[in-house]
Amino acid sequence: MARRRIIAGNWKMNKTPSEAVELCATLKDLVVNDAVDVVYCVPAIDIVPVAEAVKGTNVHVGAENFYIEDKGAFTGEISAPMLKDAGVEYIIIGHSERRDIFGENDVLINAKVKKAFASGLKPILCCGESLALRKADTYKEWITRQITWDLDGVTADQVKELVIAYEPIWAIGTGETATADQAQEVCKLIRDLIAKLYDDATAEAVRIQYGGSMNAGNAAELLSKPDIDGGLIGGASLKPDFGQIVNA
Ligand code: PEP
Repeated sequence: MARRRIIAGNWKMNKTPSEAVELCATLKDLVVNDAVDVVYCVPAIDIVPVAEAVKGTNVHVGAENFYIEDKGAFTGEISAPMLKDAGVEYIIIGHSERRDIFGENDVLINAKVKKAFASGLKPILCCGESLALRKADTYKEWITRQITWDLDGVTADQVKELVIAYEPIWAIGTGETATADQAQEVCKLIRDLIAKLYDDATAEAVRIQYGGSMNAGNAAELLSKPDIDGGLIGGASLKPDFGQIVNA
């Protein structure tokens, strides 16, 4: 069974609502590709105008964060039912910026993955090692531990719908891309781990992205690798280059 490619932009804390609508208009004709799932993961305040702007196109809307409760006294947070009602399909969970800047740990990330599935949102679960772990050659153990913890209690049927993004932290926003072989090595490790934790059919179905300075110049080579099913793209998702990545 061929896995469908998924190219997702992570807009991070960029673009006001009016700038977001402008970016949707800029990208509109560039991101057309029936063979690819295209997702814009946007700041919470941009979700409603972006959902409106991409209506009738091939673009899916994603969010960058949410909290695990449905409602209540959680000042400043946004819930899964709120995201669903606004037209969100995908949700980024466990991004290294949430882990490192906002202190999210694997217990919370695991709860978020389970809550997202229970709420009908499709998680894009991020994992990745620091430069220190890469240099110490302990990155494989690190990724194995992250994925094992983050998927605790998640069913095989859910994992078949899951997207996992391998994002080496040393390659995010640095202009430093993992080589296609380095990215493939870890994406294969993740798929093999899913086979071990679940079964071969689940491993065949789960989609695995690479993220970290992917751009119009390096996307085709990264995406040609057998275990890389797409990309999670930060900086280049804010530019017309994103269209070239979608069509790489
Ligand atoms: C990201 O933060 O998810 C990312 C991959 O960023 P960039 O493409 O800018 O490295």
